[in-house]
Order: sequence, then structure tokens, then C-alpha cells
Amino acid sequence: MDSFPLFRINLKTMKTTASHTQKVDSLRSIEIFKFLDETTLKKLANDCEGISLNSGEILFEEGNHGESMFVILSGELDVEKANTVIAKRKTGEYFGEMTLIESGPRSATIKAVAECYLLEITKGQFHSHFETNPEALMAVLKTVSERAKQDLDVLEKGMKDLEAQERKTSRLQDILNDTSNEIYTFDVSSFKFIHLNPRALKNLGYELKEAVELNAHEIFEDLNQEKIEHLVEPLRAGEKEQVVFNAIQKRKNGSLYDVEVHLKLITTETPPIFVGIVQDISEIRKIEGKVNRLTFYDPLTNLPNKKLLQENLSSALSRAKQGNLSVAVLFLGIDEFQAINNSFDHYTGDLLIKSVAQLLNKWTPQTSMVGRYGGDEFVVILSNINFETEAAAAARNLLKFFETPINIEGHDIYINFSIGISYYPLDGYDPETLIKQADTAKHFAKLKGKNTYCHYNSDMQFEIKNKLFLDRDLRQALEREEFELYYQPKLDLKSETITGAEALIRWNHPQRGLVPPLDFIPLAEKSNLIVPIGEWVLRTACRQLKTWQDMGIPIHNMAVNLSAQQFKQSELISIVADTIIKEKIYPECLELEITETVLMENMEAVVSKLKQLSSIGVKIALDDFGTGYSSLGYLNTLPLNTLKIDRTFVKDISLEEGAVIANAVISLAKAFNLKAIAEGIETEEQKEVLRSLGCDMMQGYLLSKPLPEQDMTQLLFSHK
Ligand code: C2E
Ligand code: MG
Ligand code: MG
Repeated sequence: MDSFPLFRINLKTMKTTASHTQKVDSLRSIEIFKFLDETTLKKLANDCEGISLNSGEILFEEGNHGESMFVILSGELDVEKANTVIAKRKTGEYFGEMTLIESGPRSATIKAVAECYLLEITKGQFHSHFETNPEALMAVLKTVSERAKQDLDVLEKGMKDLEAQERKTSRLQDILNDTSNEIYTFDVSSFKFIHLNPRALKNLGYELKEAVELNAHEIFEDLNQEKIEHLVEPLRAGEKEQVVFNAIQKRKNGSLYDVEVHLKLITTETPPIFVGIVQDISEIRKIEGKVNRLTFYDPLTNLPNKKLLQENLSSALSRAKQGNLSVAVLFLGIDEFQAINNSFDHYTGDLLIKSVAQLLNKWTPQTSMVGRYGGDEFVVILSNINFETEAAAAARNLLKFFETPINIEGHDIYINFSIGISYYPLDGYDPETLIKQADTAKHFAKLKGKNTYCHYNSDMQFEIKNKLFLDRDLRQALEREEFELYYQPKLDLKSETITGAEALIRWNHPQRGLVPPLDFIPLAEKSNLIVPIGEWVLRTACRQLKTWQDMGIPIHNMAVNLSAQQFKQSELISIVADTIIKEKIYPECLELEITETVLMENMEAVVSKLKQLSSIGVKIALDDFGTGYSSLGYLNTLPLNTLKIDRTFVKDISLEEGAVIANAVISLAKAFNLKAIAEGIETEEQKEVLRSLGCDMMQGYLLSKPLPEQDMTQLLFSHK
């Protein structure tokens, strides 16, 4: 920090002189801060220290080392160079910002001319608030030019003073020696150096006597005599007062650095000379590079970010327009990334994203681009494709490419993608539309079952919206008591009596009417809402069974469907047991229907749960039998009671092939000592064939559709 004794006060005590709002307002009014959002501004105002100065007190002196800038909340200060006031800084203005980029000596002395209150912003604070804000950084860079220009003005004024006063030891000399800029003069015709200030000699690494032997163009890597001649033309012609250009200067040892040069022709000298004021901007170039990376690349994966993807797509589209070609956008989302991320720590999650990025980069063809769109989302732009089918083939290839697991710190992680595809010119003409549509198609691919791809079509948006609304309403449906159980009777084919029922859920949506279970059960499974809903179904069905039995109806079986999600809960067994006790039913009367997908998830855990349920006395039925992929091997290891022959086999039963399957299922059930029940019986013929094959029970529209409670009660009574 500057070596002057300063009265530093805590911002809290400054409240008497400047309110927090005032501080925030002062910061906001400043060019380099106006890009910061409100929260950051408030935080900055809180973080930075307040400084109070009395009139005449010096904040820092020219040459002091500094690493902070100042904002004037009230009061006025003089900027002095070589003991002369060269500028004034008033309330709301700022100074010292250059040391934030490159810590170094102060280029001027700052003295309070009235009582002052300042905010000090240190390099650390500045960087933490600005590093990710390229616009603000650019604004700071702009002040570099301003400062060099100021030096030049001072210099010229000094020259005029020198002439007027004819003093040998002049202010000019002081400025030349003390400024943090390089300053040199050279001959108008030969371009030979006349004088270089100490800073210039230090930066270039020459002694003065060596340097004056050089021509100006010899210190530039990228300028020759001709180019310099061209640059100074407007000065010679009197068209411009100064020219500003960027160049690369070469030190004596050959190393290079970026500079910004402000060049003037001073005609008050005889013969006239060129004066160059030079700012070393290599630090700034570095920041610019960083800003550029921040603006166009994702820092985690180093892949192009959203912005660069959009720009690239835009140019791919203009090329395609000229060449009559197609462009495809593939929008990729990692399936279940949240779940993967939650099962590891965030560091591992980051490593995974990085690996996925590397693999995607490896996969992406030379002529295409892949970038990270955000989170677990990536976008591939396939330019110059001839047919839409090429994009689909690429998507299939990509899914295949990711079939092998990714190893992250010893864990094998399987990655699947949902991919949405949109095309130019079929789906849109501009980057925004195409990316948006590919994103929509990706959502759709997720809904369709993940690890797949979908082409965009205009109905998707509507369907997705529909699903979203449904999802939102589903969350309130339970407490608003919008669910209802329907019951479908089950007939014993030997005795021709109704001995049981299957409970089937319905949702009475206030606007949409009755929503069938297949439209909302998958949604409820996704959000895990199926767990409380399933509990409600179980309780309601058991209670209903008890009510019927209490009415004297001889029904002794109630089937309840369980989803895979419910089966994963650890409390399933205790919930079932509690319900049986609370509703006072015989456990043998409850039959839980599971599908083959439940078995596929985690066989060992499922077997153990089924055994526990069976030991309570509860019956287990395998629903939709024959539609899953699982092997028949499990039939003798599982404590099953019933096989439910799926409707698809019943439908074709009058055909020879259909009958063969139904026959096989029934024989299988017999072999394993299980009851066989056929679902979806709609005709007498179907019923008779099944009876002749030895099927035990039937369920279907022929007997009755699923009915609301009251209708079912009536049916049961009439049947009785
Ligand atoms: P599921 O368990 O296989 O139920 C049989 C489905 O076939 C029912 O459809 C029923 O209405 C229908 N059905 C019965 N007889 C006939 C017929 O003769 N012809 C035709 N065309 N269809 C018939 P629903 O009620 O729409 O239920 C569909 C699926 O939703 C059920 O298939 C079950 O997997 C699931 N589901 C229903 N309620 C629940 C529940 O409370 N919890 C869970 N997890 N899933 C349920
Ligand atoms: Mg069922
Ligand atoms: Mg079924």
C-alpha cells in the first residue's frame, strides 16, 4: 500500500458521511462499474475500505508503489506531476485504476484540496468482481489510452513552457524522467533516436549511447521504415495532431512486448521532432486473451461456449445458404446427470463432464464443432450435410460411441445421451430457432425413454407443455383428493363367480376430466410422487375390500399394482404390513401385482423383498406376463402365486399362434404351481378357448370394465 499515514475508517462508521446507498450510487455512476449487477455492486461497496482525508493531505506520491484504485465519494483532489497540478478529480470520479492491472509506481501525486471521503478498491477486490465480467475489463482497458494521451498533453505544454521560459532544468525533463510511460524522440527525416527517457531505456534494455545509434524502426518487430513512414504521413501533412497505433517492441535481448504508441510531431523544436509516448500493454494483452477465452470458451472443458456455438452456427448457415447445403444441430443432454452427480461428489461430477467433453471432441468430425451449452448439455453443429438421414446416422453413431463406460477415479460410469436434432433449412433459418428446436427435441427424447434421439417437429412443443402442466398439477392432486380407484372384477372360470377385483387408479383432473393411469403414472414415477400415491392406492383398496366383506360380499382377493419405484423403497414391507393391520384385512386377500421390469432392476433385493411379503401372507402376481424380457429361470426362485397372461396374447387367441402362446403360459403356470389369469377378455370365444386351455380366472370387458366404487358394489350385489 502507499506509504502515507492515512486515517482509515470502517465503512460502518462512515455511515454518518455517506450512506450505503450513496456508495452504491457513486460506484454505479462510474463507467467501469456500470456493468456490474446490483448485488455485486452492493457487495463491492461493503467490501472496500473507506478513507478520510483532510484538506492538504496527500493520498500517495508519484513513484509510490500502488495496488488499488479510489472512488471519490465527496471532496476534491489535485493530480500533480513534477510539483505541478495537471488535473483535478472531483466527487464521483475515480483514479489509480491502472495499478489494478499492473501493480507499479504511481504516475502522479494525489493531494486533497478539501476534506475528502474515498472508497479504496484493491487489486484483489477488483479481480474477484471483474474477472468474469469482460465488458467491465474492456472499459478499464480504454482508460489506458486516455492516460497516455494525458502524458502527451503535459509533455507538449512543457515544451511550450520551456520555450517561453528558456530554462535548462525544466519540468519537461522531470516528466521525461519520472513517468511510467516510455517516452522517446526521433528525427523527422532520418528517424534516428534523439532522446529516450529512463523508462524507455530500461524496458528496451539499452544504454542511452547505444540507443541513439538506432533508427526508430529497429526497435519494432512488426514495423519497417516504410510502414513508419506511412504511419506518420497524417502528422507530416498536418491532418492529425497525433496517431495512435499498436505494435510489438523488441528488446536488446530479442524478447518482445506489446505496446500502444501515441505519436506526435513537435514543430516548436528546430528541427522538428517526433515524440512517442509508449505504454507497455503486454499485461493488458494477457487479460484480453483471458477475456477472450472467457467470452468464447467454457472454462471447465475448454470447449466453445454458447456464444461461440451461436457464432459458428451462424457462419455455417451462411455457407450452407450459398452452397445449397443442409446443417444439422444436435442438442445433447446427459441422461440422469443429476443422479450421477449426486452419487459422487461435485469434483467427480466435474471430472466426468471434462471426460465427456474430451470424448465428444474426439468423436466430432473435423468439419463440425462441438461445444458446451451449459451444465450437462452439449451442442454439435454438423455443417455441410447432404441428407437429413446423415444427422440421424451421426446421432446413432454417437450413442454407440458412448456405450463403453467412462472411468473416473476407479469408477466405471455409463453415460447415455438424449439427443434432439433440428435441420436447416427444414426447421428454421437462424441459429436461435435451430438451437431452441433441437433442445425441444432433446426434451422429447428424454420423455421417450432416454438414450435415444428425436427429430424436431412442431407438435413437440405442445406435448411437452402438456406434460409440464400435468406434472405441476399432479403434485397437488393427492391433497386435493382428485384420485379415485376403479375396480375391475375377476371371474373364477370354474365356479363362474366373482372372487376378486383389481384396483385401478384414475385421476379426476378438474379441467381435463378423467386422466388414464398410463398418462400420469410414468410422470409420477419420475418425480417419485408414485410413492405417496401408491400408499394411498394400497390403503384405499384394502379399506374397500374390508367394506365389501363387511357387507357380506364373498370377495376374497384385491389386486393392487406396484411400480418399480415403490419396490425400491426400503419401507415397502412395513407399509404393507401396517396397512393390513390398520385396515383389518387378511393378508392372503391382498395380491400385489408387479411387472417383469421390477425384476430386472435388482433381482437380489427384489427376491428378498418378495420373500418377506410372502412370509406375511401377501400374494404376488406377475402382471403383463410375456411382454418383458426377463428369463423364465426366475419362476422357481420367486415366491409367486399368479401369472397374468397379457392382453396381447388373449387378443389373438382365436388364431392358432395366439392360442399356442396362451397354452404355453398356462402350462408354465401349472408346472410351477401358479394360478393363471387372463387379462383383457372381450369376447365369449376368447373366454371359452381359455377355459378349455385350463386357465383359472379371467378379467376383461366381457365381464365388466373397471368401475367406480358404487357401480362395483352394485355389480357385486347383483352377482351375489
Ligand atoms: P394393468 O395392471 O395391466 O391393468 C389392466 C389394464 O387393462 C387396465 O388399464 C384395464 O382397464 C385394461 N383392461 C382390462 N380389461 C380390458 C379389456 O377387456 N380390454 C381392454 N382393451 N383393456 C382392458 P388401465 O386401468 O388404463 O391401467 C393401465 C395400467 O396402469 C395398468 O395395467 C397398470 O400397469 C397401471 N396402473 C393402474 N393403476 C395403477 C396403480 O394404482 N398403481 C400403479 N403403479 N400402476 C397402476
Ligand atoms: Mg395390473
Ligand atoms: Mg396387465
